[in-house]
Order: sequence, then structure tokens, then C-alpha cells
Amino acid sequence: MSSQKFSTNALHAGHDVKATAGTRAVPIYQTTSYVFDNTDHAANLFSLTEPGYIYTRLNNPTNDILEQRLATLEGGVGAAVFASGAAAISTALLTLLKSGDHIVSSNSLYGGTYNLLNVTLPRTGITTTFVDPSGSQNFKNAIKENTKAIFVESLGNPKLDVLDLEAISAVAKAAKIPLIVDNTVATPYLLNPIKYGANIVIHSLTKYIGGQGNSLGGVVIDAGTFDWTNGNFPEFTEPSAGYHGLIYSEVLGAIAYIAKIRIEGLRDYGGALSPFSAFQIIQGLETLAIRMEKHSKNALEIAEWLGNQDQVAWVNYPGLKSSKYYNTAKKYLPKGQSGVVTFGVKGGFDGAKKVVNGVEIFSLLANIGDTKSLIIHPASTTHQQLNEEQQKETGVSQDLIRLSVGIEDVEDLKQDLKNALKEV
Ligand SMILES: *Cc1c(COP(=O)(O)O)cnc(C)c1O
Repeated sequence: MSSQKFSTNALHAGHDVKATAGTRAVPIYQTTSYVFDNTDHAANLFSLTEPGYIYTRLNNPTNDILEQRLATLEGGVGAAVFASGAAAISTALLTLLKSGDHIVSSNSLYGGTYNLLNVTLPRTGITTTFVDPSGSQNFKNAIKENTKAIFVESLGNPKLDVLDLEAISAVAKAAKIPLIVDNTVATPYLLNPIKYGANIVIHSLTKYIGGQGNSLGGVVIDAGTFDWTNGNFPEFTEPSAGYHGLIYSEVLGAIAYIAKIRIEGLRDYGGALSPFSAFQIIQGLETLAIRMEKHSKNALEIAEWLGNQDQVAWVNYPGLKSSKYYNTAKKYLPKGQSGVVTFGVKGGFDGAKKVVNGVEIFSLLANIGDTKSLIIHPASTTHQQLNEEQQKETGVSQDLIRLSVGIEDVEDLKQDLKNALKEV
């Protein structure tokens, strides 16, 4: 584990300059495969008795640097990168679970993840109970004999609820199951879930970590803290049919899970990240700390300003004193509360559409975490397919507008919103 601080690690961790021809920028190893010395060398690599590169679906030197850097920033023992956040989440769960297993999940989730748990995974026999994450007791009450994981988002998108990770991880620990935390909206700069007991941390790298809206990516980070030999996870303690009898917990110890994700998950589900995208994401990661400072500062100022506008019915941002999550945010997000702000206008569904159509600097699109400011009306777009009950559960009302506040000059952003609010 690195003893250096966040901003230093964001620039240097994982990159051995000497080993990469003195390159100051991380080089792009755009290759599908790697030449073996001879058949013995090849055999050793395949049997994991010698470390090295085989095929870019499994590992790649550029991706390696990104993986080591992200593991360092979150305080994990290892990481695996994927082609998208969705690929990271599905592979993380499919590596852990099998038909007949059950998940207890927060109901405050990214729409795609909600659909994965609610519709797609049940087709494979993996089911989920969704609970209100504001009480850790709700997770405890939903745990069954076959529950094998708790899944949450540390800062829910778009509800912006800040979860009490310490209390939820205590529930997971008592049930001898891992706590998986999607930390995308908070980022490792603002929050490290492993410090509060998370066993597995996931990010969509597409959002703040890449940060410039140019490349999709995802990561799974293993805290290395979960005891796979507790009797609940025979796939880790019995010879694996998926890798010629390898007993993961015996051979790999603390890195058993992240090794299984790479050896079986990336090999079989194939959601590998392109080295070129890894390079782009590394460029973004270098400036994560200063961007998150500015995103958070601008978002708080916009949230406070919106609260004083006549046409605005309500504002939700965990940095506002009026937020239900103000106190939890003070504990878990003391450096800032990220860039997502939601608000409602007095004109309801139609009023919200008018504002979204009236802005010029804010771009109407389905993403968050870009340096540029973004806006969307979830009820008519990302959450259109959900019924009213599901919309309510995921925190989406008819009048809700979601902003991803960028790092432009905040006065220009206010003026843009002011012009659009005149339409209401
Ligand atoms: C965007 C997002 C995802 C999915 O990531 P992709 O890179 O778009 O596949 C997962 N979780 C959260 C919280 C997200 O915002």
C-alpha cells in the first residue's frame, strides 16, 4: 500500500517509469497478445506459476497501471478494469453468485443496475430484494438463507441519498456476506467505502474518473478483507471446474476474488477495456482531485442559488442544510458532495421540460461527471420505462430535473439557468 497522498497517487501509482522505457506519460500497449519465450514459459503463464501477459482480454500493461492506480486510491489489494461500468457490475456479481443465490440491494440505484437486478439476473436464477437504504435494519430484515451479497450505491443516483456504510457493513459482516458498493458518484477522492467496511468497490470510469466524457469504462476493486472460507462460498474453497481444479482461497488468499474475476470473469464474459480507453481514463484520473473540488464547489453554489429562485419548488443536494442527508454527508463526504444536483420546478412535468429545453450551456444528455455541465429530465427519458411506483422508489418525480454541474464559471451557469427558468 502506498504511503503517499491521494493527489500524488492519482498521478504516479502503478507506473514504473523505468520498466516502460522511461515514458513520463503512461504508454498505450495497443496489442491483443504477447509473445511467449517458449512452450514452457507459455505453460507457466497459463498455470499461473509465473506472472506475465497472455492476451489483452485477461491483462494488458496499460490497463494494469490503471488497475493498480485505482486499487491504491480506494485502498484495495487489487482491481480489474472493464469496458463499462455495467460490465464491471454484471461480471462482479456473476463471479460471486450462481443460480439460486439472492442479493439484498438498496432501491436507490442507477437505472441500468436496477434493471440488471430486477429483470435480467432473475432469468439466470439470481434474485434480488430491494430495500429502502435509509435504515440498516431494512437490509438485515431482508436477508435470507441464500443471500450472498448486499449491494448499494454510496451516493445514490439520482436520489442523492448518502448511505450509512458503517451500519450497513456491520449487517453484512454479521451475515458473513460481502458488501458491494458502487462508488461512482462519490469517487475515491470524496469517499473510500473500504474504510467503512465495504468488501468490494465498483466504479463506472465513464463518469468522474475519466471525467471528460470521451471513454466508457468500469472497475471492480477488491478490499481483500472478506473471508471466503466462512462456509458460504464453496466456489472459492473447492477445486474450480472453471480453472483446472484451482482452489482460489488456498492459492490466492486475500486476492482470491479479484483473481477469479480476471481468470474466469474476464475470460468468459469478455468485457475487457480497450488499452486506448484506459489511456484516456488515466489522463482524466490525473486531475480527479482538483476536478472534484471544483465540481463540488460549483454544485453547492448552484444548489444554494436555485433555492432562492421563485420558480423552483425544491432543491436536493446533500451539502445543503435542508437535505435529509446533510449529517451523513458531513461524516462520509466532508471534502465535498460531488456535482449532481436535483431540483423541481413549480410547473411540474411540463415546467421541467421547458427548463431543460431552455438552457444553452448545459447539454441535454444521459450522463454525469463530465467537465461540462449536463442536464436531464429523468421522468421523460432515463426513467420513462418505470411505472409510477418504481419511479418513486428510485427517487424520480415528474418535475425532477437532474444537473451534473461542470467546472465552468459558476456565474455563467447561474445565468444560463436563470434564462431557462423564465420559461416556467
Ligand atoms: C453510469 C453508471 C453506471 C453504469 O456505468 P457505464 O459506464 O455507463 O456502463 C453504474 N452505476 C452508476 C452509479 C452510474 O452512474
